[in-house]
Amino acid sequence: MPVYRSVARALVLSLAANAGYAAPRPPGMIPPPESVEAGYWDLMAKAERQAQQSGELNKDPALNAYVREVTCKVAVEYCDELRLYIMDRPFMNATMAPNGFGEVWSGLLLRVEDEAGLAFVLGHEVSHYAESHSVEAALAHKNRQNIALAVSIGVAAVGVYAAASVGPYGDPGPILDATGNLIDAVYLASVTAFFRFSREHETEADLLGFQRAAAAGYRPQAAAESWRVVMAETSASDFERVRKRDARLGVFDSHPLHRDRVVALEAEAAKLTGEGVRGRERYRAAIRPHLAAWLKDDLRRRDFGQTLHLLGRLETSGEDLGVINFYRGEAYRLRRQLDDLERAEAAYFTASVHSDAPVAVWRELGDLRRRRNAVTEALTAYETYLAQAPTAEDAWIVQDAVASLKKGLS
Ligand SMILES: [Zn+2]
Repeated sequence: MPVYRSVARALVLSLAANAGYAAPRPPGMIPPPESVEAGYWDLMAKAERQAQQSGELNKDPALNAYVREVTCKVAVEYCDELRLYIMDRPFMNATMAPNGFGEVWSGLLLRVEDEAGLAFVLGHEVSHYAESHSVEAALAHKNRQNIALAVSIGVAAVGVYAAASVGPYGDPGPILDATGNLIDAVYLASVTAFFRFSREHETEADLLGFQRAAAAGYRPQAAAESWRVVMAETSASDFERVRKRDARLGVFDSHPLHRDRVVALEAEAAKLTGEGVRGRERYRAAIRPHLAAWLKDDLRRRDFGQTLHLLGRLETSGEDLGVINFYRGEAYRLRRQLDDLERAEAAYFTASVHSDAPVAVWRELGDLRRRRNAVTEALTAYETYLAQAPTAEDAWIVQDAVASLKKGLS
């Protein structure tokens, strides 16, 4: 890819020559056609077209309108120039490129506690945008060889998403493409190094994002809580590498990054009086139609400790218990550690008494009951499945199972 390398070089050189931004950027700012930032915008326009054509683009009009509404509440002066795409990808991520193209991933929407939490995360991204942090970051990295790889963005579309994945939550762990394949780790490491914001930029985006969300009337404590959620889920991971992420950051800083940020945001919240809007019900209503699909996606990450932790948090509102317990059952069934199948059966059973449980809960219950030779109970579950989903693709398999169980009984 020599062509892209030379483009990369030219871009870096002219970025360096263009140093010195007046922050924040004026709304509606368009870089002069010959400038470096214009070149940067061209690359991002390409990334945006990829997003528009992606099979992972979430087109639900109601959800898009909702996220747009919250974005505009915190983006205010930049509302008109931002274009946010919701992507069905199971990682915590949100980004905003300098040309106004942004992404919010379903893994983030699944983890945000309420509208106030979403407002803070979006406010954080708007602040990176307002302060032109990604352009500053490109300048700061001008001496790194990584830049050549980073700008091969134009070559590998999937790399664009990988690069963009370093959102407020840092390293998202292994990245999967639409078909569940791991994206090349070396490539990913190079691009993420290029796009990583400095600690100063993150602290600044936290503070400014907090101010934007608070000014829009949101509950000030939601900002610190957003980070606390990330920390808690990090420690719930099945993987030591992920659990130690905080400690590893501590090698470079005297304190783990997230903890510092929680403390700073709590101090900011303490300066304010009044409750603020939480918007928990509104938020859950907006994501509810996607809850099952996003939880299914989350299981593709194969980090069952984190998925189970997430399910526990979602459950505290006392809503969506059929869906939540069904996917808890799925997590145990797929993990298959000691006693997991018993746990799976218990979770499926809990799910089955709620009207929002997916019909598959009966097939799974049938399978697990059959496994432990509870024939009558297995038959009940299978027959409920067939009654509720007579045209299911796998109905014939379940009919077979029913037939053979009945044969055993006679
Ligand atoms: Zn950030």
